[in-house]
Amino acid sequence: MARYSVFAIARHAASWHQGWEKAWRSPEPKSEYDAIVIGGGGHGLATAYYLAKNHGIRNVAVLEKSWLGGGNTGRNTTIIRSNYLRDPSAAIYELARGLYETLSQELNFNIMFSPRGVLMLAQTEHELRAYKRTESANRAQGIATEIVSPERCREIVPILNVAGPRYPVLGGLWQARGGTARHDAVAWGYARAASDLGVDIIQGCEVTGIDRDANGVTGVQTTRGPIRTRKLCIVVAGHSGVLAEMAGFRLPVESVALQALVSEPIKPVIDCVVMANTVHGYMSQSDKGELVIGGGADGFNNYTQRGSFQHVEETVRALVETFPIISRLRMLRQWGGIVDMTGDRSPIIGPTPVPGIWINCGWGTGGFKAIPGSGWATAAMIANGEDPVAGPFGLERFREGRMIDESVAAAVAH
Ligand SMILES: Cc1cc2nc3c(=O)[nH]c(=O)nc-3n(C[C@H](O)[C@H](O)[C@H](O)COP(=O)(O)OP(=O)(O)OC[C@H]3O[C@@H](n4cnc5c(N)ncnc54)[C@H](O)[C@@H]3O)c2cc1C
Repeated sequence: MARYSVFAIARHAASWHQGWEKAWRSPEPKSEYDAIVIGGGGHGLATAYYLAKNHGIRNVAVLEKSWLGGGNTGRNTTIIRSNYLRDPSAAIYELARGLYETLSQELNFNIMFSPRGVLMLAQTEHELRAYKRTESANRAQGIATEIVSPERCREIVPILNVAGPRYPVLGGLWQARGGTARHDAVAWGYARAASDLGVDIIQGCEVTGIDRDANGVTGVQTTRGPIRTRKLCIVVAGHSGVLAEMAGFRLPVESVALQALVSEPIKPVIDCVVMANTVHGYMSQSDKGELVIGGGADGFNNYTQRGSFQHVEETVRALVETFPIISRLRMLRQWGGIVDMTGDRSPIIGPTPVPGIWINCGWGTGGFKAIPGSGWATAAMIANGEDPVAGPFGLERFREGRMIDESVAAAVAH
């Protein structure tokens, strides 16, 4: 595919930008592939890209039932950070964060990575202690984070009400190289680069059944006909349980709607990501000026892709206490995505009880930040049978009781 560059923009300007080729090929599905990835979100597309790029496995298809990035990848609030407590988590999220730094150049697609810094506010003594523990762990893991004072928090986020009333800011955990990226561009960039390496990106192709024989997987049934393969990777986030059932096994995953909202656009007031986990709300400001606000997850399992109405009120009410200026803002729109939650709030990457089928799921409310690292590690696991980064996240940990507990450890979503 032609490279995107300033010269290409200038050249195409002469023809009123009418001659750009499509960003990726949309071929008819072949009857057989060496490997099939189900799910055209960030994780599925990154897996396909690294299979082709790092391991030379290019006869690969990505099957997406609707459009690329139409799942959670295009619905999240784009926070990227790697300040997790447990070593396996820190390893995969830091691998991802590091890859994000140069992903635009790697993919020749501007994913608008913005390492603007992520500040996690400590608003109780317990939270401050937990963040001090995380900072120590991060130092041992080689991840640059620091505990900052309330005064420094106020310098970083001038609209912050550090004095309370119910939850004064006692300090914060600051990761200066955390930030955001344009979420749909991540999906599009991986799709374009994978397509360029020979991967078939097939949208509007829903997998409706999984075929197996005594030796394992043999192929999939789709709305565009059957396709044979001996290697299948299921990467469908909130629909993981549905696909696992088709393959004949069960997952320790629950699906719930998680929602987000944006305000009307205003002049720049905040140039980092700030998370207030005690009151449960977090914010960043988009290039358009909207405040991008993360809301809560529904307290019951569902596939609605909307989220319950009361969360909008709860989230905004919580944030007004810590950021009083937003009390006069109108909220413009709200949306939801179906997230796949595991009990320890860590992902599942690895083989399944059906030979030839791998799964990548369980990213829950925080998998956008992991996309490059997850794709890298999942591809390595499929190609080599094992991978040191993906290894600890295998499905067997639930049978062995070997949790990678980030829910209690970090007490933070996203
Ligand atoms: C409101 C919200 C806010 C979030 N905020 C953050 C954040 O700030 N930071 C962060 O790191 N993470 C965040 N997340 C989580 C993050 O978005 C997800 O963990 C991540 O996008 C999951 O990517 P994925 O590729 O696994 O899944 P998806 O992007 O959901 O892709 C899965 C794809 O599989 C397809 N599919 C499903 N069934 C089939 C089938 N039968 N056949 C073919 N295709 C199928 C779907 O159509 C979908 O496109 C948030 C999520 C939500 C909903």
